[in-house]
Amino acid sequence: MDPRELTIDQVRLLLDRGEASAVEICQAHLDCIAQRNPETRALLHQDAAAALEQAAQIDRLRKAGQPLPPLAGVPLVIKDNISIRGQRCTCGSKILENYQALYDATVIARLRAAGSLFVGKANMDEFAMGSSTENSAFFPTRNPHALDYVPGGSSGGSAAAVAAGMAVGALGSDTGGSIRQPASFCGVVGVKPTYGRVSRYGLVAFGSSLDQIGPLARTVKDAARLLGAIAGRDTHDATSATLAVPDYVAAIENPVKGLKVGLPRQYFKAGIAPEVTARIQAGLKLLEQLGCELVEVDLPHTEYAIACYYVVAMAEASSNLSRFDGVRYGLRVHGEGTLTGMYRETRDAGFGNEVKRRIILGTFVLSSGYYDAYYLKAQKVRTLIKQDFEKALAKADVIASPTSPTPPFRLGEKSSDPLAMYLSDIFTITANLAGIPGISLPCGRTSSGLPIGLQLLGKHFDECTLLRLGHAFEIAGGFALN
Ligand code: GLN
Repeated sequence: MDPRELTIDQVRLLLDRGEASAVEICQAHLDCIAQRNPETRALLHQDAAAALEQAAQIDRLRKAGQPLPPLAGVPLVIKDNISIRGQRCTCGSKILENYQALYDATVIARLRAAGSLFVGKANMDEFAMGSSTENSAFFPTRNPHALDYVPGGSSGGSAAAVAAGMAVGALGSDTGGSIRQPASFCGVVGVKPTYGRVSRYGLVAFGSSLDQIGPLARTVKDAARLLGAIAGRDTHDATSATLAVPDYVAAIENPVKGLKVGLPRQYFKAGIAPEVTARIQAGLKLLEQLGCELVEVDLPHTEYAIACYYVVAMAEASSNLSRFDGVRYGLRVHGEGTLTGMYRETRDAGFGNEVKRRIILGTFVLSSGYYDAYYLKAQKVRTLIKQDFEKALAKADVIASPTSPTPPFRLGEKSSDPLAMYLSDIFTITANLAGIPGISLPCGRTSSGLPIGLQLLGKHFDECTLLRLGHAFEIAGGFALN
């Protein structure tokens, strides 16, 4: 059994035919982790015994002839900002290095009930702030396709783990591209659901109006299965939508002929690496061959998107991260013995540079005297960006673009230049500002073998069309499990 080639359907076949037990499948992934994790460093920590016990439970059900739940025995890796009861949840930060989650996130409770196994917690940029996983307080993760390159971020550990075969799928979180961009860099599928589609209960908040949890997988069908398992209303998250969850797996089989694919005039300009342009053009041809119609659309406020996102995201981050003060969670440094000294020293020792930069800038844009000029202005621009998408998606069923303007870059190449790192998020951040869903699909490789991703964005709650077109695309291009 080569774990890199397993899909959720194949796990089920192995179990149903008695060709492998859930414990054997779990062990094969633990072996893959033992082999690949030392070089990729995709995982921060794991509880192998707990995963094997979950697997043993599935095997007991099988022995007793009981029906198996839909994701029985499927090994998953979980980003380390999503709570699994009794396991550490570090968010890639020193301040939470020894923090243990007290409860399961709703997505975890749902996956647990569906029979899946949690084989490891994935490395990430500290508090999900970054695009390369180099902002992890512990160590950077490396791209399994080329170890000198970054896996993307902030869910870089999740994407690298799926690409390397350490798990069949993974969960990440996406505030401005953190599922889609690492999926693109690691050659896997990544879905950012519509805001409100998936409960955020138990996800450590970064930008609460932008954050969504979503799946990473090696095929679109697997991503559809995982999304179906985690989506839906949750009384613990008031922003989760009451809309019924469609059958995503059934939806992917529907024909794609006649779908309109919008190409934003503003996106296909200078600034995209030539190899990315070439692969994306070939991908768009493939969509045409599938019977899609390419239409030009306008997203006139694109040039303000990066500034708008970073003002909103940093403002929300500065509020959300105020809870880490040495009193309730994680690290405490006593300082010179005063309360404010303890706050200051705990936060100084606990947070890394990027997190501090964002807390400072976020506090600045929210402070009276600057609020109107920055935060309020950004909220207005956000509305304009949302309206751009509403108009564009009235003319097209989906919008296509590269996921990232560049292929994966080398470790260290951008880490000293935060602005260069922020600019690389141009194609992904707008979906979070508008609240719409997005998917990144493998779309071939550069001449040196580095993965390139095609992004599709869709209408609110229309994940079905993204998955359906993605499924047809990966089959036509031969991109699945590649
Ligand atoms: N790269 C973006 C940022 O640094 C997005 C991160 C994310 O989606 N969590 O904010």
